[in-house]
Amino acid sequence: RRTAPDSAPESDSFKARKFTLAELVDATENFKAEYFLGEGGFGKVYKGRLQGTGEVVAIKQLDRNGGQGIREFVVEVLTLSNAEHPNLVKLIGYCAEGDQRLLVYEYMPLGSLEDHLHVRRASRKVLDWNTRMKIVAGGGEGVAGAAKGLEYLHNKMKPPVIYRDLKCSNILLGEGYHAKLSDFGLAKVGPSGDQTHVSTRVMGTYGYCAPDYALTGQLTFKSDIYSFGVVLLEIVTGRRAIDNRRTGPEQSIVEWAKPLFKDRKKFFQMADPALEGQYPVRGLYQALAIAAMCIQEQPNMRPQIADIVNALNYLVSQKYDPKIHPIQSPGSVHSSRSLKRDSEEKFDLGFGNEEKLEDLV
Ligand code: AMP
Repeated sequence: RRTAPDSAPESDSFKARKFTLAELVDATENFKAEYFLGEGGFGKVYKGRLQGTGEVVAIKQLDRNGGQGIREFVVEVLTLSNAEHPNLVKLIGYCAEGDQRLLVYEYMPLGSLEDHLHVRRASRKVLDWNTRMKIVAGGGEGVAGAAKGLEYLHNKMKPPVIYRDLKCSNILLGEGYHAKLSDFGLAKVGPSGDQTHVSTRVMGTYGYCAPDYALTGQLTFKSDIYSFGVVLLEIVTGRRAIDNRRTGPEQSIVEWAKPLFKDRKKFFQMADPALEGQYPVRGLYQALAIAAMCIQEQPNMRPQIADIVNALNYLVSQKYDPKIHPIQSPGSVHSSRSLKRDSEEKFDLGFGNEEKLEDLV
């Protein structure tokens, strides 16, 4: 079993640049409040401009008293410095001086998907259907989406990496809503040989964490697939993974969605009301079908990321076009007709059925 390393590797094994603290203090004018971008589980993030190159970057200052700070720091630097993909936030460098640990990333100007989905601002438009699909699946013109980043971690990296903390606040957006996965602090080097899992302390984020992982602490690639399903559900429904403002089972997006998945007539109730009915019926249906498969209780019933990427490629080819697609309203005659047309096709969403993802494409 391979686990993430506990001690810092030789410095020449880093692809990332080593910065001095003075350089990063300069870049952020001593971590000025107005450059503050946000705060995650491991520390505060500031916008900065590197002296010399003028490059704009995001600088994460890891909490000193976190206990796990140093270990997470090493994991993140190691993982990210080996990972190069258009859908992963690029790690530019790091700083380890005294007890200070900082990471320097490419700056993602549009912030996190979480903000766009759940934080309303007067200056910001509601994400339309095509943009939502572009974020998760790609734009079709050579711009891939968040799913491709996960595919890279699972299938292309050697050794493969389980992300472990996939959620909307870890999907950051660049120009043109180009999505990239960030925050590899929890990433776990995957099982090697014929092992199927790595055992870990259960970490990650409530609401996104697969039930099997929460129960057993056995982390598999299918734990990430569950989290991906939750993210896809959030994108389609506009609900939060966990919403403390609601009561009972409605608090959890998965508990809310499960009974609705059993009844096709209820699919329209799942579309984000903020979309105001502007989405392609088939697209909604297929996105929900993919999400439903990902959040199945049984990890071996969940699809692999490569199959999800294929299904999503098909999904993005069906763009919403207001000239072709009528505005949907729950229960309207038109809606039920289009739904019927779709339901006559081969896929079915009953939970626990033996549906294959390939049937969707
Ligand atoms: P994190 O600790 O990575 O979860 O980051 C906390 C918050 O800081 C994120 O939700 C973003 O709003 C912001 N942030 C983190 N990394 C970047 C980045 N590379 N570019 C722009 N904003 C970022």
